[in-house]
Amino acid sequence: MAAGETRAPFAALCGKDPEKLFAEIPTPAYIIDEAQLRRNGEIISDTAQRTGAKFLLAQKAFSNYDLYSLLAPYLTGTEASGLFEARLGAEEMKGKEIHVFCAAYRERDFDEILRYADHIVFNSPHQLKKFGALAKRFGKSVGLRVNPECSTQNGHEIYDPCAPGSRLGTTREQWDALMTEDLCAILDGIHFHTLCEQDSDALETTLSAVDKKFGDLLPRIKWLNFGGGHHITRIGYDIQRFERCVRYVQEKWDVEVYLEPGEAWALNAGYLVTSVLDLPKNGSTQTAILDMSAACHTPDVIEMPYRPMLYGAGEAAEKAFTYRLGGPTCLSGDVIGDYSFDEPLTEHQRLTFGDMAIYTTCKNNTFNGMPLPDIWLLCETGELKKLTDFGYPDFKTRLGSKR
Ligand SMILES: *Cc1c(COP(=O)(O)O)cnc(C)c1O
Repeated sequence: MAAGETRAPFAALCGKDPEKLFAEIPTPAYIIDEAQLRRNGEIISDTAQRTGAKFLLAQKAFSNYDLYSLLAPYLTGTEASGLFEARLGAEEMKGKEIHVFCAAYRERDFDEILRYADHIVFNSPHQLKKFGALAKRFGKSVGLRVNPECSTQNGHEIYDPCAPGSRLGTTREQWDALMTEDLCAILDGIHFHTLCEQDSDALETTLSAVDKKFGDLLPRIKWLNFGGGHHITRIGYDIQRFERCVRYVQEKWDVEVYLEPGEAWALNAGYLVTSVLDLPKNGSTQTAILDMSAACHTPDVIEMPYRPMLYGAGEAAEKAFTYRLGGPTCLSGDVIGDYSFDEPLTEHQRLTFGDMAIYTTCKNNTFNGMPLPDIWLLCETGELKKLTDFGYPDFKTRLGSKR
């Protein structure tokens, strides 16, 4: 990771020390950075204007709807993974397009999805056959997700929809076996989603695979959705190549281009502030137990896995004092990672993790009776505003009948 990248999660603070900035906020807490969200929105809408591509917010990465009105001017609509996200988009991002993709729709959800959605994308020819004609009757734009069988990521197989045997998307072999002329006739568009935190070189590679596998079918459709995983707002992302890719597709197949990034909208636009509760030492391992949990509050740290950036800290052994940072839960593996500091940590000390607006507030849980961290907003004016008031009821109502 380049030095610029290391600082990027905190760049929006403009050199201000988060320990001071967030000193009055009870921990643990997520803080969303309004200024950074707007900067991301501007980068995305600039490329949208230059290319004519349409950008959606993939809500599964970021769905803090208090900020939807801020993002609205920069986007064409929302992307939902099913009924609830579609409804959230309808309620909170009013007047914008709603696109839905689900690996398989439940019959009892579908009528309601028809109320909200503009585009409905199916995962298999069977799903298309089951629901496609109905969707068309309701005036929806109908798409099929394809699998170009082109893996461009290394390391994160759980995020690779092109991994062997993947259940996501229709391969050309499946298409040829199952797509009838009638089914092809109801298709308005084709969707692919194969990237994760990638630059536009991976998009370019993927597009040539899409061309090779499905190029003969593309002149028949109206739109091509490039999915998410485009790290457009990351420092150093090659936007020019991205725009060449979009223009190439627009010209070659005369299609409307949609993109549905999640991360890129809220990249580096959030922090997680936590406090040190205890500093036990076992042999040579010095631990700091925090009041946040990796398993509950930043599940991707364990699932992906990755090591989040921590303000003022270095890699293990890079600075004088190294600590293994862990949560207060009973899970042995509830560890965020090893970090080093110039000074020894002390009880009550606050630590601030960066890039915490994505796949966090929308993915956390209350395992072990862990409280949900409240969500705060760092306004563009510098003011801090509390958006939520989580407590015991948010734990209890998920477990039983009493309200
Ligand atoms: C996850 C996902 C996205 C968003 O991906 P990001 O990596 O957050 O940009 C978009 N579309 C689909 C179908 C997805 O599954």
